[in-house]
Amino acid sequence: MEGAPIRQPPAAMIYTCADCGCENQLKPREPIRCQDCGHRIMYKKRTKRMVQFEAR
Ligand SMILES: [Zn+2]
Repeated sequence: MEGAPIRQPPAAMIYTCADCGCENQLKPREPIRCQDCGHRIMYKKRTKRMVQFEAR
């Protein structure tokens, strides 16, 4: 077993828009931009301890 071609899918990160506070899930290759308002400043959200998801 050498050189097994394992392709890891890019882990999507969750960013919070600095303008509207909307959460955006962005992949590493995608440009940082809010999909809601188009703002380009996003805060990276910690996803490690994020266990709770609130449904709206
Ligand atoms: Zn926004």
